[in-house]
Amino acid sequence: MLEISNLVVKYGAAHVLKGISLRVENGEFVSIIGPNGAGKTTLLRTISRLVPIISGAITFEEKTLNLLEPWQVVTRGIIHVPEGRKLVGTAAVLDNLRLGAYLHWKQFKRRLPLVYEMFPILEQRKNQQARTLSGGEQQMVAIGVALMANPKLLMLDEVTFGLAPILVNLMRSKLKELHDLQISILLAEQNAELALTLSKECYVIEYGNICKEGPAAELREDPQVRAAYLGL
Ligand code: ATP
Repeated sequence: MLEISNLVVKYGAAHVLKGISLRVENGEFVSIIGPNGAGKTTLLRTISRLVPIISGAITFEEKTLNLLEPWQVVTRGIIHVPEGRKLVGTAAVLDNLRLGAYLHWKQFKRRLPLVYEMFPILEQRKNQQARTLSGGEQQMVAIGVALMANPKLLMLDEVTFGLAPILVNLMRSKLKELHDLQISILLAEQNAELALTLSKECYVIEYGNICKEGPAAELREDPQVRAAYLGL
């Protein structure tokens, strides 16, 4: 479904992605783990075409994304839940959800109950300004906005960052529910335990390189991964 080969990205002189190759098959749950500054966010932003590509190829459903604008990537069905959520804070929850559905107006009424079923609190808070919600609730809005956009591939960046343990567990079950809806998922996470228990395949990225990849079940047993990322 998504195929990335030899992707190179620089910010000025800083070489941030140094030849990344990665695949997400249709319906698969893939995670990317790695320390702060490894390049996870840059990788997702490059797939969304928010960052210029120096070299390498990104294809989705066998068509190139290299030359697309970000809005065109969204029309292909790749929806990005960015780090830090990026909601319209002064707009009501419902208006944020409306923005998510801007390409699918006809489906708005059908998709809204899906979001409310997954996150019932959002129906209670639908008229409240997004910025007045708790961090966990705002993260639910961000995922709700993405769901409204009818994703084929959902890219999630650090969705559990800063959340209390109880909310991390809630997110864990919500990510499973999203995957049960047949949505393919690419999850970038510093919480390696969460990523390695939810995903089928995992890539470990360090200093802009993929240093390990494989079935998450195998990486969970890898001594280096256990020591560096699971604290075991
Ligand atoms: P984190 O989890 O801390 O966000 P990350 O793995 O997502 O880390 P990136 O945010 O992709 O890493 O950052 C990769 C490198 O690129 C870092 O060294 C960062 O400082 C640098 N970087 C990120 N954005 C920019 C930018 N707009 N301009 C210059 N350098 C940047």
